[in-house]
Amino acid sequence: MRTPLIAGNWKMNGSTALIQAFGDAFTAAKLPNSIDVVVIPPFPYLEAARIAFQNTPLQLGAQTLNPQHSGAHTGEISGRMLKEFDVAYVLVGHSERRQLYKEGDEQVFDRLVAALDVGLTPILCVGETLEERDAGSTMDVVLRQVGYAMARLEPAQRLKIVIAYEPVWAIGTGRTATPEQAQEVMAGIRAYQAGFDKTLAEQLKLLYGGSMNASNAAELLAQPDIDGGLVGGASLKTDDFYAICQSA
Ligand code: PEP
Repeated sequence: MRTPLIAGNWKMNGSTALIQAFGDAFTAAKLPNSIDVVVIPPFPYLEAARIAFQNTPLQLGAQTLNPQHSGAHTGEISGRMLKEFDVAYVLVGHSERRQLYKEGDEQVFDRLVAALDVGLTPILCVGETLEERDAGSTMDVVLRQVGYAMARLEPAQRLKIVIAYEPVWAIGTGRTATPEQAQEVMAGIRAYQAGFDKTLAEQLKLLYGGSMNASNAAELLAQPDIDGGLVGGASLKTDDFYAICQSA
């Protein structure tokens, strides 16, 4: 049985006031005990979030990390630092990092290993562009991104990651993959994992991301291989995010 996970990626949005609003809303909110809910604010808000979320079911995530634990890397943040703020999850390979900051599979993998080294759960984001989908190479692209990491991890490490399938054409566009499109790719990822280990395939948590909102979440989350969501825009409003959590 895979525990559903809903993660809200605030990207470069939010404020201390929004952190407080989430703290207040989720202190009062009743969520099923059987789901994990993660808020992923920008770095400067982590400490305020750590305090504001103390009496809530919300866990903390970070949007990226440097592959090194410390050193001369001006402007960067390490996994070890994130741990000091009770961060439990970290995104690696988000398409905005891949596209805007030129992080390729190798850099993504280094970050993933750095996260595992310090006990953070990495959420490995993968997904195809519209051109790649139109060219019929969705599965090739997704399995290349997944496979690059999986093939290099130790068997025990493979069990400690979460994978988010986020078609690039669906992120921030309002254009969601249909439940069938998402399910098809998720099933492909899970079948691929079975090639490594059947237990891994059964336990691996797979999230869908790309314009998930309060109206489409239930249908997406009802798919057999979709275990949760990585939510961008709709994670910035307490009511919308709460409604998505309730759909899980
Ligand atoms: C994301 O940034 O991971 C994301 C899924 O964004 P949105 O929900 O806004 O498409």
